[in-house]
Amino acid sequence: MSNFLYFSDIINLCSIGRGIVMKKFHFSFLIIVLLLFTACQSNGTIQAKSNNISTNPEEGKTQDENSNTTTNEPTKPAIVIDKDANENGKVMILMYHGIGEVEKEWVRTPENFRRDIEVLYSKGYRLISLMDYVNNNIKIEAGCTPVVMTFDDGLLNQFNMIQEDGINKIDPNCAVGILEDFYKAHNDFGRAATFYVYYPIPFRQKELIKEKFEFLINNGYEIGNHSYDHPSLGKITLEEVNKQLGMNVKSTKGYLPNFVVESLALPFGEAPKGDSYNHVVSGSYEGVEYLNKAVLKVGSNPALSPTNKDFDPLKLPRVRASELNTAGTGIYDWLSYFEKNPEKKYISDGSPDIVTVPSVEEANIDKDKLLGKELRVYNK
Ligand SMILES: [Zn+2]
Repeated sequence: MSNFLYFSDIINLCSIGRGIVMKKFHFSFLIIVLLLFTACQSNGTIQAKSNNISTNPEEGKTQDENSNTTTNEPTKPAIVIDKDANENGKVMILMYHGIGEVEKEWVRTPENFRRDIEVLYSKGYRLISLMDYVNNNIKIEAGCTPVVMTFDDGLLNQFNMIQEDGINKIDPNCAVGILEDFYKAHNDFGRAATFYVYYPIPFRQKELIKEKFEFLINNGYEIGNHSYDHPSLGKITLEEVNKQLGMNVKSTKGYLPNFVVESLALPFGEAPKGDSYNHVVSGSYEGVEYLNKAVLKVGSNPALSPTNKDFDPLKLPRVRASELNTAGTGIYDWLSYFEKNPEKKYISDGSPDIVTVPSVEEANIDKDKLLGKELRVYNK
């Protein structure tokens, strides 16, 4: 077998991220594999352990078969991967508003926003989209923790275009500009955020709405519903709720005919009470239907894993990405909480098709929420 094939095996191993026996073991390639798998670990505080995940029957069979068919080769040890994975741990959905020159309760300076991103990255957090989170479609490296970013209100400083030599360019100090620059230098951080816009002029440059929307959806970002003109949905009639949410969807479709708006951030975090809450989930206005698979509150806590028995995508809490008046529940408060209590956060096993959890979490899983994925439990 050529070295090229060995390397393919390693790439395959990285993408699958589960215990696999390499067909033709070679010590130097094991070193490379180990180096690849320490990428996330070296950035965070996660310690790798081995030999305490039980391999599934299929993997055991593969190992036996290999040992029978390669009698002339040296003994091939199984590579067992465990980064203290806990895919039933908590996930932060960060809530941002403005990016501006002066730090305020609802405004982050460009410098502070860059710092947030750098700190998240260095601690092993990786961006995923809200819909990937809700759909339990989390594809990040083993040992890393997913984080979701959201921006409310469709402000100019979230996505500002500036002219340079007659060409529109993304302002490097707006949210999208900062995210894009970081992504260029650190592809493995991921590229995702959901922008909750209202009308009539999302991002405040009327002639550029379509261009900005298209850029977002073509580059991993999402656009969400934040009502038509930002009333409290708890203080208007249910007919007006339908109108506010239906008009937002109709307006977004006007710019992006094929894009489906699937999530809502409640303006002021408010909604009709009791059974009337259904009106923020689905409804229609003048023939335009809306259906939200996720509804975001203002909140102050990390959200549950999508496999948790109490996970409710229609009432998701968010963590305020701020350092002012956070009452101990801002981004840095939770980052330090997870530093002290790493077993509370979601830690990926690196395999999108397998949900790996310690045995203490097994009772907190709703098996219907696995969506056909294999559940792997290890003793802890
Ligand atoms: Zn708002």
